[in-house]
Amino acid sequence: MIAEVIVDVAAYPIDRPFDYKIPELFAGFVEPGMRVKVPFGPRKVVGYVIAVKEESDLDIAKLKPLEELIDFDPILSEELLKLSEWLATDTLAYRIEALQVMLPAAMRAKYEKFIQVEDLQAITDESFLELLHKRDRIPLKNANTPELLKQLKVYTKSGAVRVDTLVKQQTSVKKVRMIHIESVEILQQLTDLLSKQAVKQRELIEWMLEHAGQAIEAGKLMADANVSSPVLKTVIEKGAAIEKQTEVYREPEAAKLRDTAIPEQLTSYQTHAVDEVLHAYRKQEDTTFLLHGITGSGKTEVYLRTIEEVLETGKEAIVLVPEISLTPQMTSRFIERFGDQVAVMHSALSAGEKYDEWRRIHRKEVKVVVGARSAIFAPFENLGIIILDEEHESTYKQEDSPRYHARDVAIWRATYNLCPVILGSATPSLESYARASKGVYHLLELPKRAKEQALPTVSVVDMRAELKEGNRSMFSVQLAEAIRIRLEKREQTVLFLNKRGFSSFVLCRDCGTTIQCPNCDISLTYHRATENLKCHYCGHEDRVPQTCPECESEHIRFFGTGTQKAEEEIAKLFPEARVLRMDVDTTRQKGSHARLLQKFSEGQADILLGTQMIAKGLDFPNITLVGVLAADTTLHLADFRAAEKTFQLLTQVSGRAGRHDLEGEVFVQTYTPEHYAIELAKSQLYEPFYTMEMSSRKQFGYPPFYYIVNIQFSHEDLMKVVGYAEKATRFLSEGLSPDSVIIGPTASAISRVNNRYRYQCLIKYKKEPKLTETLQALIRFYRTEWIKDGLILAVDKSPVVIY
Ligand code: ADP
Ligand code: ZN
Ligand code: ZN
Repeated sequence: MIAEVIVDVAAYPIDRPFDYKIPELFAGFVEPGMRVKVPFGPRKVVGYVIAVKEESDLDIAKLKPLEELIDFDPILSEELLKLSEWLATDTLAYRIEALQVMLPAAMRAKYEKFIQVEDLQAITDESFLELLHKRDRIPLKNANTPELLKQLKVYTKSGAVRVDTLVKQQTSVKKVRMIHIESVEILQQLTDLLSKQAVKQRELIEWMLEHAGQAIEAGKLMADANVSSPVLKTVIEKGAAIEKQTEVYREPEAAKLRDTAIPEQLTSYQTHAVDEVLHAYRKQEDTTFLLHGITGSGKTEVYLRTIEEVLETGKEAIVLVPEISLTPQMTSRFIERFGDQVAVMHSALSAGEKYDEWRRIHRKEVKVVVGARSAIFAPFENLGIIILDEEHESTYKQEDSPRYHARDVAIWRATYNLCPVILGSATPSLESYARASKGVYHLLELPKRAKEQALPTVSVVDMRAELKEGNRSMFSVQLAEAIRIRLEKREQTVLFLNKRGFSSFVLCRDCGTTIQCPNCDISLTYHRATENLKCHYCGHEDRVPQTCPECESEHIRFFGTGTQKAEEEIAKLFPEARVLRMDVDTTRQKGSHARLLQKFSEGQADILLGTQMIAKGLDFPNITLVGVLAADTTLHLADFRAAEKTFQLLTQVSGRAGRHDLEGEVFVQTYTPEHYAIELAKSQLYEPFYTMEMSSRKQFGYPPFYYIVNIQFSHEDLMKVVGYAEKATRFLSEGLSPDSVIIGPTASAISRVNNRYRYQCLIKYKKEPKLTETLQALIRFYRTEWIKDGLILAVDKSPVVIY
């Protein structure tokens, strides 16, 4: 037999399967989806078996044999193997990258394999018993004859033994001492035998009588029964209990923020949405639903209800959230509803913890996974629904190879499994809403808040006027007054400052003008190195002006302030206020995000000040004021999605106020109050925003009217990177049809990273039949020749952020 193997060497021309002989020893063991060790040139490398076949097109005598099995069970299902093929082609990545992205990183670390005995009674084979030699755990490599391997296979199938992986460099399997308490009869016999002086022992055994037959963790037992370790030890020695080391899964920290009551009755909109999705589910239709519901409209409840039926009918669910450590409330709602059927895949989990969660899914111990982007590859084999919450978020796109979008993978898996997908958002991406308008996705609307609370009143504050009045502080008079009132009433305030785009554009503080590119609808980017302004869509360059070209004011400067500065100002204005600051600096430690939120929810602070990480998911009853300190920071980013992102952020942040009984109020401070993204976010008017933004995208030729491909070049030598970028651009313009527009090459906004110069070029197209072919040819050039000269080339077929 022959195995087709993808080897772990990412370099052209190796990106294809290689044939290896399956030696006699492993005959009948090797299945697609397992990892193996194979000789490759002078080295031994890890490979993934993607197929097993009788014949090879090559001379069998010359094929090398597999050397070692890494897995005993396939770790990738047939579905995931197929998915990896599509993923590699679609994103122009190496197949090995597509395979690896599906597995937890711990699987790439050093590991050892063990045979773990689960049921000794069931093992009858003499040679196998000899191999075990009375141990319940032996290294897998000891099973080294075809006979033993055959037995091993029989016993793993029957559950008598299990093949276990121990990842080195970390204690991948956590153990606890469990005390298994004996039966009432045994305990009673023991009490009769105890001497009068053994008061403590008697007390413990009496306590155990109430817990007879249970298994309790040693620490908990000692605390609950109020006994010391020596007493417990003595009692165990007398035969009252048996002590066992038991493997436990590391429990990811689930912050208990509140208990959400299960709503008794769905709103009519929710009912309609749930019905439509379940209808598709029951008929096994792979419909993609776009659930457009304003903040607080009860989208999460729709997810929970549909999943309920999916689980009841024996299937599984994947729920993606943009950044799970930022949405502890969402996670706890799933755990509250579905208990230990839920696995959580945080980005904040350690590699070992992620691996534990992955194993729980692989062993079919859970039925729901809630996680960030990579959870879309959860190894379920019976998928009934896939949900992407906040589907517009850019974190769903992976920026490194394979550059996939979780939305595309979700739709692929849904088609394979014949199940529906729900894309949920208060502010859907323009791409998704356009698809829904055309009927590609099925649109579901939740236009009202679930509890009929009014949306908060939003006031836009013109910071230009504040400046004219002589107020140079970050806080307008109105916002400061509103905060003061909240402090008096003991209600809570959330202040939001978007730090992204720090100092990257130039803004006039008097008239709000930003310096724009004359050829594109994009702000120019300030380049620190050259002190120039540049457009990285068309390459236009300009000097930084001394005065505003519109109003000649000298108050023109790089825009951007930090949360730290805001904190200092608050301290000056409101010395009595208790402030929690939440940004990258205060949330570095694991779990600190959840801890800060917990503090705030317990009322230990009056003001929560933070970056975009606080925009998501916050749902506390006592928040009645939200302030956006500078709405312009996202608006003028050199990104054609700037207006969309601003609208999304403002809508989301405003949605944090007044979600419960108390009414909410929102202040949005801006230097450009007339901008439609700000104007329309005020009343959460999505459709008008969509219409405005679409016409601007059409006019300037951006998605969703055109597709964009970004090609990024980097090299240590500036002349070389320019040379290759130009060569590649010429190659593309010769290969592609004349209707496609090629822009560049131009220097990237961050023109040097780690001492490498960066250039880029963009392809804009509507229909380009030769796209894949031409890009593949370019990549082939790169992988065979240019790469040797130190060039790095990356192709991104649907860039989310271009910088
Ligand atoms: P979204 O995800 O759309 O922002 P949520 O699902 O978080 O909205 O719901 C907002 C609030 O309304 C939550 O506190 C939730 O418990 C509550 N809620 C949801 N559906 C209902 C309902 N049918 N009746 C009463 N309250 C509801
Ligand atoms: Zn001006
Ligand atoms: Zn331009």
